[in-house]
Amino acid sequence: MPRCNTERAQAIWRSVMNALRGDLSSLVIDTYIEYAKGVDITSEYFVLCCENTVSRDWIERSQRQNIERLLLEEVGAPVQLRLLAGEEEARAYIAEREKPDAAGVGSEYTFENFIVGGSNRFAHAAAQAVAAGEATSYNPLFIYGGSGLGKTHLLYAIANEFRRRFPAKRVTYVRGEDFTNELIEAIREGRLRAGREREFREKYRSSDLFLVDDIQFIAGKEATQEEFFNTFNALHEAGKQIVLTSDRPPKEMSRLEERLRTRFEWGVICDVQPPDLETRVVIVRSKASAIGMDMPDAVAMYVAENITSNVRQIEGVVKKLGAYSALLREPITVATAQHAIGDVFTEKSEPTADIIIEEVERFFDLDRGSLAGKRRDARTAHARQVAGYLMRTMTKLSFPEIGRALGRHYSTIMYSVDQVVDSRRTDRQLDTDLKDLTINITNHQ
Ligand code: ADP
Ligand code: MG
Repeated sequence: MPRCNTERAQAIWRSVMNALRGDLSSLVIDTYIEYAKGVDITSEYFVLCCENTVSRDWIERSQRQNIERLLLEEVGAPVQLRLLAGEEEARAYIAEREKPDAAGVGSEYTFENFIVGGSNRFAHAAAQAVAAGEATSYNPLFIYGGSGLGKTHLLYAIANEFRRRFPAKRVTYVRGEDFTNELIEAIREGRLRAGREREFREKYRSSDLFLVDDIQFIAGKEATQEEFFNTFNALHEAGKQIVLTSDRPPKEMSRLEERLRTRFEWGVICDVQPPDLETRVVIVRSKASAIGMDMPDAVAMYVAENITSNVRQIEGVVKKLGAYSALLREPITVATAQHAIGDVFTEKSEPTADIIIEEVERFFDLDRGSLAGKRRDARTAHARQVAGYLMRTMTKLSFPEIGRALGRHYSTIMYSVDQVVDSRRTDRQLDTDLKDLTINITNHQ
């Protein structure tokens, strides 16, 4: 589920607005600009919410070019300005962008545009066999590997190919996180009470091909694992194909129930690894040609040599270079590529306090906002200590800053970080939890 990058959009907008103050009269600023807010920034566009339609139209008419130029300076890459009028439109935009995509499967991800190399050959072959309906013993097919290495791409490719071959069969795709959320909602609304559970369960249990992306999210969540266990059994017994992806192999999912772990190991387990240099060069070329970009060999080589562990980053850099070359109307040079790659690394370097809080709340199955809230029950208090510790170790935030993020005095944070440092030495569960969480936070997108 894509998430809006509001915090960054607001920071960018503040700088742009400062620059605008130099250019425009204060009357104009007060009337049209003052109440505008940055809503989102992606690699392609920047979304600005204007106070109302009048200010939107004015900005559109007289400031678009100017703002896009300032955005280029601020972001370091060309982004298009998208304007919304009023909070209502901003809410609609956010809801649309953050909704788990309904049908789920991106049709542009296919086997044809998946580049095969030593690092993913087995996973690719297994995925193809499953999509052809030929691999009854590959059940489940379990694909694991680091972030941005093509797991979701393979899952979509399976879905697209299977649908093409067997149009009458039913394919369901769900992300582990959404399965969890849907279940929680169903329980809350009483939809799982006797007599009513069918409609929820039918949704997944009537699949011919059941795809679950990022299954690691169900680990540690009791009710979800129970429901998933039953769904898995029903489908497996009926001879339906199941495919799972995860950021780690079953044996390393420390909070996964044993009976699920066993089942995940019933079929075939394969990994995707970071691609080698030759494969990366082919990926760079293929991503460039997909956006109609002419990439000089030296640049393709430079990108492939410098981005080594994540195909999503390779794709991001190629897109950025494509945008540059369109804007500058000249071929890309290695120097431009250096610049674009620099951005990728600085963007990725450090998680924010918000990301850490979100991942810790998710890990411990707490409601959003509980960590900064008032609750003092043992689980929340423990999770809060863990979050403080992770902020201290994974970021450069100071104790007072961490304290503010968690709504606590900094001395409390100092004390609890020390405690976690101590307990970690002897408490095995805590140690694995911290390792898992570090992976989740690093992989957070
Ligand atoms: P994951 O699910 O493993 O985190 P994704 O499947 O979302 O990663 O891949 C991230 C991006 O990289 C996608 O846009 C995908 O198309 C691309 N990608 C990853 N591996 C390959 C590959 N072998 N060939 C082509 N594109 C790839
Ligand atoms: Mg994925």
